Amino acid sequence: MGKPDFWKNTKRYYDLKSYWRNRFGCTVHKLQIDAGFTCPNRDGRVATGGCIYCDGRGSKLRQSGLLPSVADQIASGKKYYKPSASKFVAYFQTFTNTYARVEKLKALYDEALAQEDVIGLSIGTRPDCLPPEVIDLLVGYAKQHHVWVELGLQSAADRTLDFINRGHNFGQFVKAVEALEGRGLNICVHIIIGLPGESDEDVRDTARTVAALGINGIKIHSLLALDGTKMGEMYKQGAIPMISKEKYASLVADVLELLPPEMVIQRLTADGYRDILLAPAWAQNKLDVLNAINKELERRNSHQGMRFR
Ligand code: SF4
Repeated sequence: MGKPDFWKNTKRYYDLKSYWRNRFGCTVHKLQIDAGFTCPNRDGRVATGGCIYCDGRGSKLRQSGLLPSVADQIASGKKYYKPSASKFVAYFQTFTNTYARVEKLKALYDEALAQEDVIGLSIGTRPDCLPPEVIDLLVGYAKQHHVWVELGLQSAADRTLDFINRGHNFGQFVKAVEALEGRGLNICVHIIIGLPGESDEDVRDTARTVAALGINGIKIHSLLALDGTKMGEMYKQGAIPMISKEKYASLVADVLELLPPEMVIQRLTADGYRDILLAPAWAQNKLDVLNAINKELERRNSHQGMRFR
């Protein structure tokens, strides 16, 4: 299978920038928002302590003790971009951004969409935190705006989800996808490569599984051991091996080959967390990781979708 023409890029995968250009004919940037949500996997509603790799501090804004309004966060985010050349998507990123009463969610999302040049929403959440009334709210926005729902999955293997204390299983993820698809919403899944106890085949299984569902985009992250997390403690005790950059690049290439060519690749590596990153050190250099992935795809003369069935 050759590289699809509709990507209109020089990459070996369908990157988000190319998708935005195809869809809107201009540059679109996602503006990160911390709207002050918590997470049911941290506050006891589902579990306590959260996923074992999760940095429980929230955004830098939250850490500083001052959480500006959604409108102010969008205004600050916009300053980094050329005013005339861009449109924006408000990315509700921190913790679980559907974890509140629907009236509160509506007020926050409305505030974001009322800002100039904001053409849509991207809502980061968990598969078990999408009751029908919240999905209906998002479907309502999707009639006039561009809406993504970003679902954390991390792995399709229930034993891994148990180990990392996700607080939901793979079946719940599938139910969430089924409830969202076909209603005008775009679905993005988050997965992690390098999770403890996972074989290469487990990673490829997750890719195959995700590829077979009605999912429009993916974020692929490398596992990070962060100070202050349970995973960080396990790493310090020598209980968690971290994969090498080369291995990560090879597994990302495997995943990309198995995904459908039209799935938008929103992210290929984790970044940030420099202040608390314990390992792997290579994850600090995002450009270097992206180069390693590109080199691996070149070496194979391969691209996204090459082994998609
Ligand atoms: S679901 Fe997300 S926010 Fe909640 S504990 Fe896990 S990683 Fe953290």
